[in-house]
Amino acid sequence: MTGTMLVVIAVLALGVGLFVFRAIPGIRAYFEYRGKRLITCPETHKTEAVEVAAGEAGVGAFLTEPTLRLKECSRWPERQDCGQECLQQIEVDPENCLVWNIVSKWYEGKKCVLCHKTFGELSHLDHPPGLIGPDHKSVEWRELRPEQLPEVFSTHRPVCWNCHVAETFRRLHPELVVDREAEPKRMM
Ligand SMILES: [Zn+2]
Repeated sequence: MTGTMLVVIAVLALGVGLFVFRAIPGIRAYFEYRGKRLITCPETHKTEAVEVAAGEAGVGAFLTEPTLRLKECSRWPERQDCGQECLQQIEVDPENCLVWNIVSKWYEGKKCVLCHKTFGELSHLDHPPGLIGPDHKSVEWRELRPEQLPEVFSTHRPVCWNCHVAETFRRLHPELVVDREAEPKRMM
């Protein structure tokens, strides 16, 4: 092996090492900042849903440090030119403002109001649970706009996906549902 080849291999190995060394914080930043988040808009003091440009944050972390910028906000396009001051809230606590975590925390430990099944942590593999409102209509949580969720959580009650589907069917096709007569309580 010639000396030149050795130098080339050494430079390549160094390059790969450096790439991996920088890729780790880049990938970490990407996963940390992706997903919808709820923040309090510094201008209106209302809850809004935003999404950080996670790819850009990842590239920033790869090069030097993550640069945070919004990719989406529920107040856009009207306020697209705002100063994005809400990013400070995300930097301080990226985990707790993530919509997924907020929803998961709200369901966890609660019981379905219809079948009394206890909810565990939210999983991407399960069907999304629902909420039932004062009008007795149920919706999947994903069908709601994220910025509505904090308010909806105070007026609605949790239902599991199975009960949500059964209730929706009952509401849309009442002619097809046969309700058995309520049996007298056996406890008595
Ligand atoms: Zn249920």
